[in-house]
Amino acid sequence: MKETILIIEDEKDIVKMLEYNLKKEGFKTLSSRDGEDALELATRQHPDLVILDLMLPGMDGLEVCKNLKGDTKTASLPVIMLTAKSQESDKIVGLELGADDYMTKPFSPRELIARIKAVLRRVKEKDRLPEALKTGDLIIDLSKITVSVKDRPVELTAKEFELLKTLMKAKGRVLSRDYLLDTIWGFDNAIEIQTRTVDVHIRTLRKKLKSESKRIITVKNYGYRFEYED
Ligand code: CA
Repeated sequence: MKETILIIEDEKDIVKMLEYNLKKEGFKTLSSRDGEDALELATRQHPDLVILDLMLPGMDGLEVCKNLKGDTKTASLPVIMLTAKSQESDKIVGLELGADDYMTKPFSPRELIARIKAVLRRVKEKDRLPEALKTGDLIIDLSKITVSVKDRPVELTAKEFELLKTLMKAKGRVLSRDYLLDTIWGFDNAIEIQTRTVDVHIRTLRKKLKSESKRIITVKNYGYRFEYED
């Protein structure tokens, strides 16, 4: 499916240049030269990304950005600002308001398109990663890096957290010791890492998880599996 880019800019030549380049890259485009119209377009047409010029007649770009980010219907819509060199401080305000990136005029369309693709990729990654995994009384918050059992916080070391996360994400699949070693410890030559390392960490993890430790199942001579219930 083609992604739609909403261009909010009053300078016709820039709009034309952007439309031409975006279409060439396979994007669909919408455009508006007026902030208030653009907000309506953003809610009605569900674009995938907004290119927002800060210098607009009427409602200025920062106000548009604030409105977009303040409305639950458009808050997650990524915004790339177009700024003039003289607008350094506006650019910072825009980023604080939640804009994802900016380009200073004059800019190369190729660079802007690279930024658009990068922002869209980031958004997709974020959508794919759940904020938290929960099973039984165990909750692991992947953004805050916290773990709790029966609403009580569990203090884990970084490696224990990674181990638990990896096991939980596998949703019941058996993971070998070697796989866990590679994923969590990598090929770290600084420390002598042995297969036993995994077992040692599993042991401390089980102790800390108390009533939920039963979910970590040992698969003899191979590795571990995590009993996950949705
Ligand atoms: Ca303008």
